[in-house]
Amino acid sequence: MFIGVPKEIKNHEYRVGLTPESVAELVSHGHSVVIGTNAGIGIGADDDAYRAAGAEIAATAPEIFANAEMIVKVKEPQAVERAMLREGQILYTYLHLASDPEQTRDLVGSGAVCIAYETVTDDNGGLPLLKPMSQVAGRMSIQAGASALEKAKGGLGVLLGGVPGVKPGKVVVIGGGVVGFNAAQMAVGLHADVTILDRSPAVLEKLENHFEASAKVVYSTKAALEEEVINADLVVGAVLIPGAAAPKLVNRDLIARMKPGAVVVDVAIDQGGCFETSKATTHADPTYAVDEVVHYCVANMPGAVARTSTYALNNVTLPHALAIANNGWKQALADNRHLMNGLNVAFGKVTYKAVADDLGYEF
Ligand code: NAD
Repeated sequence: MFIGVPKEIKNHEYRVGLTPESVAELVSHGHSVVIGTNAGIGIGADDDAYRAAGAEIAATAPEIFANAEMIVKVKEPQAVERAMLREGQILYTYLHLASDPEQTRDLVGSGAVCIAYETVTDDNGGLPLLKPMSQVAGRMSIQAGASALEKAKGGLGVLLGGVPGVKPGKVVVIGGGVVGFNAAQMAVGLHADVTILDRSPAVLEKLENHFEASAKVVYSTKAALEEEVINADLVVGAVLIPGAAAPKLVNRDLIARMKPGAVVVDVAIDQGGCFETSKATTHADPTYAVDEVVHYCVANMPGAVARTSTYALNNVTLPHALAIANNGWKQALADNRHLMNGLNVAFGKVTYKAVADDLGYEF
């Protein structure tokens, strides 16, 4: 199959659809890959690295879109890219269509076969192509929080790990799913005093079994949450209620009762955030203060560590890309119901029920 990887053009997007290693893997199976010039610069892979892996380099996006049978990307196609898609061409990338009627209209109009990373499933009912980004954001939340706790950033001036003879910082993680688990792992690794709150008995048991005495695991009631948050140096918001906006678990009044200089990192900001005082920020200006509590609310945290994120993403997207390239999309989807769940739009029809229902398309 002839596979095209355009350079990402969304603002501040440094990731790329395929790493040089993924290109080499596809080429070793007899496929051809064309990649936009400098597409891998943001992950430290220049055109020579891609040439060495067996790719051709294209100077412009239209060359890629005109010839490729499958386009592999990271972010949803921007309007100028959507205009270049054609009937039957495969688009394999994050789409997030339910909140994007314009994109959906254009993809339907293009006749392309659009497979969305975020709706591909696994045997455990999880979303394996979203999971690595939650792992990245969870691990990064402690790094971001630790930095914001520094005095010059408006923080308390607390080192999370303490030193011999001085108590460590208190980290509270609200939500112990993928983000929360990874945040807790990093905080425990730094020798912080860690508490994780969740409501799911299965999650609580998993956390307790994993962390044993190195973290406290607490059932998330309003009272327990208040007690933990008031005494925290760093609070990570990592809750998710699938298909719904994040619940506002920490209200303005509770923020005002926190220590001045304490830090909240609201990872759930992409679902509206779980602190009442949260508003989305960017990597260029990631924090602001409310009642002297520092807020970090970056909606696309993985973008800051583009290299790690691209490799993590390719680990889960490459097997499906190979299956599609080796067998054609029809056969690859027929062989794997989880990949079939990724099909969102094909030949002018919305093929994913939740998107069709939300945006008023026939299903
Ligand atoms: P997940 O489903 O794995 O975990 C969510 C957890 O929240 C679950 O264990 C659930 O039981 C728990 N929960 C629900 N209600 C709760 C409550 N009242 N109190 C305590 N816990 C509660 O989800 P995830 O993959 O960890 O994602 C968490 C959030 O992070 C999502 O909103 C996701 O979109 C977001 N996210 C943001 C970024 C970013 O860059 N900002 C990156 C990746 C993920």
